[in-house]
Amino acid sequence: MGNKLMDLRDARFAIFEQLKISDLFAYEKFSDYSEDTVDLAINTAEKLAVNEYYPINSIGDKTGVAYSDGKATVPAEFHAAYKKFCEGGWTAPAESYDYGGQQMPTMLNYLTQMLFFAANQSLMVYTCLTHSAGKVIEIFGTEEQKSKYLEAIWSGRYGGCMDLTEPEAGSDVGAIKTKAIPNPDGTYSIKGNKLFISQGESDLTENLVHILLARVEGDPEGTKGLSCFIVPKIRVNDDGSLGEPNDVFCTGVEHKMGMKGSATASLAYGDNNSCIGELIGGRGKGIVTMFHMMNEQRIVVGMEGIAMGSSAYLHALDFARERKQGVAFGQRTGPQVPIIEHPDVRRNLLMMKCYTEGIRALLLYAAKCVDMQEVAADEAAKQKYGDLVEILTPICKGGGTDKGFDACITAIQVFGGYGYCQEYYVEQLARDCKITSIYEGTNGIQANDLLGRKIVMRGASAFQALIDEIQSVIAAAKGIEGLAGYAADFGVFLDKFIETSGLLRARLNENGYLAYSWATPYLSIAEDIAVAWMLLSQAAVATEKLKAGGALEADVLFYESKIKTAKFFISSVLPQVMGRLDAIDKNDDTILEIEDKYFID
Ligand SMILES: Cc1cc2nc3c(=O)[nH]c(=O)nc-3n(C[C@H](O)[C@H](O)[C@H](O)COP(=O)(O)OP(=O)(O)OC[C@H]3O[C@@H](n4cnc5c(N)ncnc54)[C@H](O)[C@@H]3O)c2cc1C
Repeated sequence: MGNKLMDLRDARFAIFEQLKISDLFAYEKFSDYSEDTVDLAINTAEKLAVNEYYPINSIGDKTGVAYSDGKATVPAEFHAAYKKFCEGGWTAPAESYDYGGQQMPTMLNYLTQMLFFAANQSLMVYTCLTHSAGKVIEIFGTEEQKSKYLEAIWSGRYGGCMDLTEPEAGSDVGAIKTKAIPNPDGTYSIKGNKLFISQGESDLTENLVHILLARVEGDPEGTKGLSCFIVPKIRVNDDGSLGEPNDVFCTGVEHKMGMKGSATASLAYGDNNSCIGELIGGRGKGIVTMFHMMNEQRIVVGMEGIAMGSSAYLHALDFARERKQGVAFGQRTGPQVPIIEHPDVRRNLLMMKCYTEGIRALLLYAAKCVDMQEVAADEAAKQKYGDLVEILTPICKGGGTDKGFDACITAIQVFGGYGYCQEYYVEQLARDCKITSIYEGTNGIQANDLLGRKIVMRGASAFQALIDEIQSVIAAAKGIEGLAGYAADFGVFLDKFIETSGLLRARLNENGYLAYSWATPYLSIAEDIAVAWMLLSQAAVATEKLKAGGALEADVLFYESKIKTAKFFISSVLPQVMGRLDAIDKNDDTILEIEDKYFID
């Protein structure tokens, strides 16, 4: 077995053989890349993840973040690893050469990020929020703001964070109370409080740039009245040097069940009436501005979840081969056998394999759509890839995080009592992973987004774009010997999914409350459909490779394994989707009847 973070044979198969990153090299933006350079980047990222990030992950879990008098101190070991991350150019690899980036395809960027997340989520959270903050400034900032902040952010000298959540404004972003009062010089005085802000305070970087949502005094209530502000922790002078502190005070850090090396800060702005913010993206355009950051982050959080699930799977696989219990199935006596020999353990491992490999491929597919949306020459293609990114965002976020967490919990089960003990890494992975279904919009909010927005948007064109892609994989697989039957079965499930999606769309107008009560089951079904799509597409490639002949023995095993994985998922997991779709069709209305008073306590 290679590293226990990510099966790189499988990841390479997805990026090179199935999803063909090489398609991108024909475009000017990615013309400096080749399969060799992509491979080199994967190897370099693996070394950093395995040698620098992974060994300090459990140290961060034990040390946690210290808080004293407004300062948050990250685990000491994080500093050196972060420095190597920055020196390796990993803070902004996908950014343009103009800003010091490497114009790396998003596909490759995501794959490497998954390695880092699997190795040390807490440390990665600092860097990925920094990236989103930089992206907002790059896209929406004035030239002055870009020259003031961007180089420092992309080089990792400054960290970044996104400040939305307040005590009364969690999922309900429109309830934000933090105020912005216009100053004569065009800046704003910020006043308010936020909590749960990842990297809201830390000693990892020389400065922090808060991208903050607030309401300019007098602007309308709700999300429409929100604006976005750049609020540096330490003000930055025009020549780039650091000035006065900016009256952003960290009032404490949370003590969490996991992700303990990440500083989750409560913040007070303007207690001394001297917190200065710069408007970015236009007054009243805060949600549009912030949404750019949030959409990117939602896919990133999906990667975070599945990266940890993937590591949990590899740890469980390793353990299941080592741990011996019981005798061979059907025997009364004999030597103890590795637990991987037992049918229930094997099924657990196979479920983890299906979801971690299927969702990783889905995330890489979504990444390719991000790349194609940017480089595609004609507007119709841009629209198609944009639609696919839109509809895949909640599926990637929900699927990556729910299935990633399931894999962590299943891994604990495979470890038995050892899995419940702190010496074994899977226990930390499960605690760390849980947050991924909560932040960046809880998965309940993702489900609402899929049902209420994404499957209806632009006359259901995003939904249709997704269905077209899935149907083309099914159609091709129907012509492949050995896969035709599975493809036909999947086609039946997909037709039923299309039918139920239509029913739900209609019900949004007829009885929205009841329709939304199905949002999470519907999202979960969409995740399974997406996994089946990716696994069938992989099985098709694997079958062709085997047919071509000449594969090395290890590759033959690998390709056969891909075919078996798809076969299992379509035959054993997808039929359960039928039952769940039937339940939605039936539209039982107990949810309407069972009001609060019936939950008797
Ligand atoms: C470790 C950590 C790091 C975080 N980092 C950041 C950060 O960097 N920046 C930031 O701004 N925030 C951050 N958050 C906050 C996080 O985004 C919120 O916790 C999350 O959005 C949910 O808000 P809430 O906790 O107030 O829960 P609530 O909004 O109160 O939700 C509670 C439950 O109700 C459900 N619910 C609420 N409204 C609806 C609805 N309309 N429909 C269906 N279900 C609904 C939710 O799905 C959830 O299950 C972080 C939180 C944690 C714990």
